Parts: sequence; C-alpha cells; structure tokens
Amino acid sequence: MLKALFIRHKMPVEGTQKFGMIGGWPRHAKPAVWRTHTGFPVSDHWRRCRGYSVTRERGSSRWYGGEKTVCGVCGTAYRTWYDRRRRRARDLPCGEHRIYLDLEVRRVFCRQCDGVKRERLEDFLENALHTKRFARYIGKRCRGSSIKEVAEEQCLDWHTVKRLEMQYMREQLERSGKPRPQVIGIDEISVRKGHEYRIVVSDLEKHRPIWFGGADRSEASMDGFYQFLGEKQSRRLRLAVMDMWKPFRNSTARNAPQAAVLFDKFHVMRHLGEALDKVRKAEYARLDGKSRTFIKGQKYALLSHPQNLKGTARKNLKLLLAANKRLNTAYVLKESFGQLWDYSSEAWARKFFDNWRAQLNWQRLAPYEKFAEMLDRHWAGIASYCKPENKVALGFVEGLNNKIRVIQRRAYGLHDEEYLKLKVLTCTLPAL
Ligand SMILES: [Zn+2]
Repeated sequence: MLKALFIRHKMPVEGTQKFGMIGGWPRHAKPAVWRTHTGFPVSDHWRRCRGYSVTRERGSSRWYGGEKTVCGVCGTAYRTWYDRRRRRARDLPCGEHRIYLDLEVRRVFCRQCDGVKRERLEDFLENALHTKRFARYIGKRCRGSSIKEVAEEQCLDWHTVKRLEMQYMREQLERSGKPRPQVIGIDEISVRKGHEYRIVVSDLEKHRPIWFGGADRSEASMDGFYQFLGEKQSRRLRLAVMDMWKPFRNSTARNAPQAAVLFDKFHVMRHLGEALDKVRKAEYARLDGKSRTFIKGQKYALLSHPQNLKGTARKNLKLLLAANKRLNTAYVLKESFGQLWDYSSEAWARKFFDNWRAQLNWQRLAPYEKFAEMLDRHWAGIASYCKPENKVALGFVEGLNNKIRVIQRRAYGLHDEEYLKLKVLTCTLPAL
C-alpha cells in the first residue's frame, strides 16, 4: 500500500506563482493595499477575518507583480481573472510515496471565447490533476501489466489508468509515423467467442503491425486496408504473406496486382493441425470403451510440438499413438510435413509433397486428403517461398499471433475495440 505524501510548499493563498513560494511573498509582489473585487480597499486583518473565499474571488494581476493570466482555449492574455482554486496535481512517485504538487489554477473570463475558461497551464502539466511525466509513467507501466494491477498499485481509478494508457499508445503511434511497407503479413484474429473476426496487417520487414480493422474477414474489410494505405503506397508492395483465404487474395490482386502472394508455413501448418483434430474427433466418435479413453483430452498434446511435451503428457501421447493406428499415422504425417520448408528448390519441394500425398492412399484420412487438395490448388503461393526475394522472417507472423492472444487474455472482459486495436498496433513499438 502506498502512503500518501503531500508536498505542500508554503504558499500564500494569493500567490503570484503557481508552484509555491517558500517563505511567503517576495517583497516587490506584495500588495500594499488589499481590495475587494469591486475595488474597495480593506485591511489585511479584515480580509483574513472575513475568510475571503479563495474560489470565488475575482482578482487582478495589478497587485501581483503584473503576471497575466492566459486563456487556455484561445491564448489571449488578461490582467484580471475570474476565480481560482487550489488543486493537487499528481507527479511521479518517489519510492512508495505518492507525490502531489500543490498549485493554484485560475479561471479567466475570456472576451474572445465569451465565457469563463481555465487558464493555460505550465508546459509540464497535462491538466490540473497530473503532470505530463506522470501520465507517461502510467502509460509505460501498462505495457507490462494489466490496467487493474497498475490502478491498484498507484491508487488510481481504473478508468483513469485506461485513459492514460490509451493516450500513451496514441502518442506512440503518432511518433512511429505513417507506414510504408513493402512486405506485408495478413492475418485474422477472432474477437470474442464465435466467428467474429478482425484483420491485422503487419509490416514484416519492420516487424510491426500497421493496421487493425474490418468488420469480418471479407473482401470489403480487406479493401479497407488498401484504402488506408493509399493507392501510391499499395503500388510499392512487393510481397503479401497470408492464409489460404480467397477474399484476402482477391482484394490483394485487385489493389496491389504487382505484389507476389505467399502462403506461409505457420498458416499452412495450422490447417494441417485442424485436419488432425478432425481425425481425432472422428476416431473418438467411432470408438467406444477403453480405446476411447486414450483419446480424451489429448487435443493439445497432439497439436503441440513434441519437444514441448514433458512428463505425463508425453507418456499419454505415446500410449495414445500406440493404441490407435490411424491417429498414429495422421500424427506422423503431420510431423513430417514441416520438412517441406527445408527445401530450397521448388522441384524438390514438389517432389516431397507428391510423395507425402501418395502416403495418404488407403489410409482413409479424409480431412488430410482435403488438405492436400487445397494445397495443390494453392501450390504456386506455397512454393514461392523458395524464391530468394521472398525470404522474410516468417517467425514474426507466429510470434505476433501469440502476442495478440496474450493481449486478448489480459484484456479479457474489456469489450473496447479501440483499446484492443491500440494495444495490438503498439505491441512492438518502442517505449516513449
Ligand atoms: Zn479565450
């Protein structure tokens, strides 16, 4: 728990300076005669006894060293002000102490704006509640922790933390400039449960997501990205890495016809994983009794890399594969398929694929046959990884996918799409 500490400089109520004058008034600024706002002169004693309200006192800088008050909206300077009050602005914490600055904020009746406006604040104050560096500090803290954690730690309201974080992220985005990608990766993420998708496009050379949007994964949504990019930038695209999904390809062909299309390993292997899962489900439905129990709860063991399995999970998977021949075949075929991306010549890759496909004969693995057919249809886009100009770090696509999943888990229950969007777009940007 933080302890509160108020740094309150000894500041006269009628202070001319906003950040405290230790030891009272400077001699030249002290008014010789105190007046009410109507101009009636009163003694200092009377003023104190009557408890001159701090907040509703109109004043003039005539008495206070000639300092002017500047309208916060239009910037016109005035010699008088409407009212003023003391505020506590939060500043960077010091150890476990919260630090507040005690300051006076004036309001001014502005003739230009025709209303009472707050004065313009010092440069390092964001508003009357906290300083700019504090806002940035909170934004930075949110990069590694959830809003709730930061709010609890800093004794702040959850909504305040969220607002500050979003503001921080917008600033990050602004600083990163307009994207000029040559190689893009197109991916969809599912938001909420069910089949609601958004498209995420990233710059694979700069390793950063550059666009998040669309209402689904349709062609119209994908066109939204190219509109965002603009026609000139779209013509600069050299390569588009994507899933085997027709709307993405159609939209790319129409908006950036010069860009080569590549279906990457991560997405292809994901389709194969889905095929394996279908086989598992079919086997589960087909069998009963003891042989069925081996399959139960093995989905993730089957789909993850064998190196990542340890202890019991590994043992269970071995038992399952020994007990069920069809699943065993499917599993081995899936594991061996990754080799396709080790070939550097297209002819050899094709040879490998044809051999792999031949192994499917007589195995009665319908989902696998479907997968092979799909690959055959998209072969040009898959084999283009062999071309030297298409060598890009494809690990980023998978890494970003995992990162977004972590973000979604952390922002779970927070149905704010703008927040998710900012979070995704800034997840690889450097801190401010
Ligand atoms: Zn004004």
